[in-house]
Amino acid sequence: MSRGNVAVFIPHNGCPHQCSFCDQRRITGRQKQPSPEEVWELAQKAASQQDVSRCELAFFGGSFTAIDREYFGSLLQVAKRAREELGFAGVRCSTRPDAIDRERLMLLKEHGFTTIELGAQCMNDAVLLQNGRDHTVQDVENSSILVKEFGFSLGLQMMTGLPGATEEIDRNTAAAFVAINPDFVRIYPTLVLPGTQLEAWFLEGSYHPQKLCKAVELCSDLLLLFQNAGIPVIRLGLHDTPELKEQVVAGPYHPAFRQLCESRIFLKGILAELAESGQKGEGEILIAVHPSSFSTALGQKKTNMEALRQRGYAVRFLQDPEILPGKWEIRAAINERRKSPC
Ligand code: SF4
Repeated sequence: MSRGNVAVFIPHNGCPHQCSFCDQRRITGRQKQPSPEEVWELAQKAASQQDVSRCELAFFGGSFTAIDREYFGSLLQVAKRAREELGFAGVRCSTRPDAIDRERLMLLKEHGFTTIELGAQCMNDAVLLQNGRDHTVQDVENSSILVKEFGFSLGLQMMTGLPGATEEIDRNTAAAFVAINPDFVRIYPTLVLPGTQLEAWFLEGSYHPQKLCKAVELCSDLLLLFQNAGIPVIRLGLHDTPELKEQVVAGPYHPAFRQLCESRIFLKGILAELAESGQKGEGEILIAVHPSSFSTALGQKKTNMEALRQRGYAVRFLQDPEILPGKWEIRAAINERRKSPC
């Protein structure tokens, strides 16, 4: 299992599509296509600075398997050398579900690739069509099967709050992902970026982005769903950069979006357990959490503590290294101890 990525961004190149939400060049923050020599230098530099035997060289930012064939071939060579000469644990790429076939998977396999991420975005054909994705749900299912058949680690990416999508559609997408059983997922709440079709729809008033609180409510449920299914969510929200923060036109942007969702999971879980135990009004309630989860459990600006107090619970959070990160234990003044469910 790899511990990290050495990321190479391949901006938009090779992509003949224009999805409603995408300005890939802006997301990657670069417009120039890195040459194979530059990628090799980057890999060498990384190998000289860190132990890459648990890292993957990662090609992000575009439709990797659909880029110009010659350029694709040259990057495959670099990937192979990175594994054989520098000792990288693996290589990953992200691509479109309809840019996967046996021939391309065989090439990736032969050049040391280990992980493939598919930009599925939504498991609803009408939403995919409305947003210019030019692939279908069936493409996602077929390519996922192929990626697994070839023995790659499979990642699936989804977006919430796309034009045409309802909360139910987003929840169904997550459920469809669970049925596919990928090795990991990424969840991106839809943000409006400049120069996109989405921006035009937003400005003309035909697209209403999700409010931050709605996005947090939905994504916290999705996060829990994947956690309970044993599927890691390796990213929740676009990678925050100063440029992204400046550019976002509208949408549920927050630099610590994932933490907001994790805090929400704490609040909902604790509230459900307290309601079940009927402890309201029985004195101070202690909620023990792992030190690494303390600020998340409290909520940003102690919003969780405040929400619990407003509902009549006199709570105090405390740190206990024996509690698992992400879990809690409710300790009532009457010395009854209840463990949080897993
Ligand atoms: S397929 Fe990917 S890179 Fe191409 S426009 Fe859509 S999101 Fe952007």
